[in-house]
Amino acid sequence: RVKSDKGRDFRFFEPAMDQALRERREMKRDLSLALGRGELSVVYQPQIDIGSNQLVGFEALLRWECAAHGAVSPMVFIPLAEESGLIDAIGAFVLREACAEATHWPETLSLAVNLSPAQFRNRAVVRTVTDALAETGFAPARLELEITESVLFDESAEALASLEELHRMGIRVALDDFGTGYSSLSYLRRFAFDKIKIDRSFVADLPGAEDSAAIVRAIIGLGRSLKTRVTAEGVESWEQLLMLRAEGCNEAQGYLFSPPLPRAEARAFAKAGLVASRSANDRRQRHG
Ligand code: C2E
Ligand code: MG
Ligand code: MG
Ligand code: MG
Repeated sequence: RVKSDKGRDFRFFEPAMDQALRERREMKRDLSLALGRGELSVVYQPQIDIGSNQLVGFEALLRWECAAHGAVSPMVFIPLAEESGLIDAIGAFVLREACAEATHWPETLSLAVNLSPAQFRNRAVVRTVTDALAETGFAPARLELEITESVLFDESAEALASLEELHRMGIRVALDDFGTGYSSLSYLRRFAFDKIKIDRSFVADLPGAEDSAAIVRAIIGLGRSLKTRVTAEGVESWEQLLMLRAEGCNEAQGYLFSPPLPRAEARAFAKAGLVASRSANDRRQRHG
């Protein structure tokens, strides 16, 4: 009978759902202890100027090595941190840690840090950023904040005011994952972004897929018209880089150049500076 079938379906799914919920609860609790236990760390992914093949900076990316769950992706734990209010403490940690580390790099290099929409819920985010700069002595002009368009969507007035205050201090602002949300275009009018980052889902399809190529070309053209630099994320192949270069994309980031690196390796990369172009050329030779 229909009713008992339904009952059976529920009984079938319940244990799995219980398990998932329990795991989330556990993970939230573990995350609240992670900072104190030193389980959080920051890795740095090189960003390369496509025209000159020069290293221009690094993006800081958070890592969590959980005692119970092993390596947990930020795609999983950042949302948990947002829900539980831990994001402010974790966000402050990333800023302080990354700014302190970046003072060891050559002065020409910049540092990009991701900020979550939840950090813009109140104006304290301005204080968090300025405190990190003051404590570490890192120059505001070398810092770039990466935000997604949902920052401006969620709490428009407050978030915009915070962002503008930070911008006035000389801190740059990049629009991350461009093209994946909705009404992306209207955000370009609301705020004078210094950089647009093309989401890697578009880059992944290059150079073969015509529709992705058309979108990438359009975003690069948009950047050119708005005098906003454009970065392609997730560049994995030489063919992708060649196409992006031909279209006039300014910067690239991705496994072709380097995965995110622990800080000692990032420092070595920063000192070498031109390792990027060498490895890209090596790859080209290897691929014929
Ligand atoms: P995102 O800011 O768009 O970062 C780019 C992601 O793409 C990173 O994943 C990076 O490791 C990955 N990636 C880089 N190059 C390649 C490539 O060539 N191929 C592929 N397939 N992937 C590549 P990750 O480190 O797992 O971070 C995922 C997301 O988590 C980030 O996306 C960002 O939204 C968020 N996140 C990471 N660290 C932080 C943080 O400190 N604060 C906040 N609020 N969010 C963070
Ligand atoms: Mg980012
Ligand atoms: Mg991104
Ligand atoms: Mg992303």
